[in-house]
Amino acid sequence: MSVRLFNTYSRQTEDFTPLDPAGQRVKMYTCGPTVYNHAHIGNFRAYIFEDLLQRHLEARGYEVERVMNLTDVDDKTIRGARAAGRRLADFTQVYKDAFFTDLDTLRIKRADHFPAATEPRYIARMIAMIGQLLEQGIAYQAEDRSVYFRLAKFPAYGALAHLNLDELRPSGRVNSDEYEKENIGDFALWKAWDEADGEVRWEAPWGAGRPGWHIECSAMATALLGPELDIHCGGVDNIFPHHEAEIAQSECCTGKKFVRHWLHCAHLMVEGQKMSKSAGNFYTLRDLIGKGFTGREVRYALLTVNYRLPLNFTIAGLEGARAALGRIDEWVGRISDFRFQVSDLGGALPANLSERHEGFFNALDDDLNISGAMGQLFDLIRESNSALDHGQLTPAQTAELLKLWESINRVLAFERESIVVPAEVAALVERRQQVRSDKDWTASDRLRDEIAAHGWIVKDTKDGPKLSPK
Ligand code: AMP
Ligand code: ZN
Repeated sequence: MSVRLFNTYSRQTEDFTPLDPAGQRVKMYTCGPTVYNHAHIGNFRAYIFEDLLQRHLEARGYEVERVMNLTDVDDKTIRGARAAGRRLADFTQVYKDAFFTDLDTLRIKRADHFPAATEPRYIARMIAMIGQLLEQGIAYQAEDRSVYFRLAKFPAYGALAHLNLDELRPSGRVNSDEYEKENIGDFALWKAWDEADGEVRWEAPWGAGRPGWHIECSAMATALLGPELDIHCGGVDNIFPHHEAEIAQSECCTGKKFVRHWLHCAHLMVEGQKMSKSAGNFYTLRDLIGKGFTGREVRYALLTVNYRLPLNFTIAGLEGARAALGRIDEWVGRISDFRFQVSDLGGALPANLSERHEGFFNALDDDLNISGAMGQLFDLIRESNSALDHGQLTPAQTAELLKLWESINRVLAFERESIVVPAEVAALVERRQQVRSDKDWTASDRLRDEIAAHGWIVKDTKDGPKLSPK
């Protein structure tokens, strides 16, 4: 079965076919964060869905080249830098760094490229594209000296969002802020410099200013991936006007169809409302880590609901994620114990178990049906636990089972954090073993309490002491 994806453009689930004649390489562009603040976990829902898409395509043998841009100049970043009394580049750097740390905490694979809009090569490309659009009469400079895209020149505008362009035309008076434009829907390609922009300005043949947000993505996407992309993703709020504008600008400049497959994830909601900075109903990853949750638990909660369904965020949901991961950990622990004893030839796995593994990937082929895939994984766990309880799996078969888990986990990235025992705790355990061999039980109990005070529990088993975090 091939990978099938829902395309926002056609509103159909379509067979995924990359442009590469060899059917191997996939060019994927994903709109990244605006670095004026810490990203909230709603933003990360989008990045985690894109991570799942990339990992599943790779599991199916595709080679994905992925770009995620950083929007480091726009109204919000400029306003933030001014309020903080810092240079724009210094202000955004803090949030760029924080973003990369969060990506790692959530186990999101790094993209191949993270272009930032203010890098000179991209600014130069934005200016070149705008220059070309002006020359073609598709863009115009208004009285306010800003440059706008003339929507009337691109009849397909609205096709992605399934909007009728005529409905976008104002019937009554034009908003006074917009009086310079020919049409209220025309969007800015270049914003003329004004005092509020301070030192943030670049020189262009039509005057100083800065790029509009939409042209940033068109320039970075085509600079790194060429005029035609296989996949472009974002959250549903990006569809209009951002992605419509990207299509219009890019296609007018290159003459080629910009994107084959458009994918958008539904919002992360809080009590029926979109999680957003402006509504003030957001959590950052740091907030949740501060409440004692791990990046892996947040990843689980954000990943395991199908991307086109709204996901309601709750703390109870994170607790559910913790419980589900506990079940997976327990099972992985159980099947890992056999890893080093595989001397006999146990033969293939029972058919029902291999079918669960195939079922996991087949579900993902179906427009990333992650809830179906997780259902297969939990069936695999239940059925293999029962087979182990009844002594029906040989060590070699159990080792095979571990391989199935490893291939599933290359997509999920749900493995347990490797537990690093702090040196002082390890030293206490060692001392405790010494006093125990001298049968000094009082000292042994005292050391157990001391270890507990460091947040660790020590259990005495026939194979020696076993440590676990409290
Ligand atoms: P922004 O920094 O606002 O440009 O958003 C970055 C990415 O996060 C975009 O792809 C948005 O569509 C996405 N996004 C923003 N809020 C949410 C949300 N509550 N749920 C899911 N995705 C979101
Ligand atoms: Zn974008």
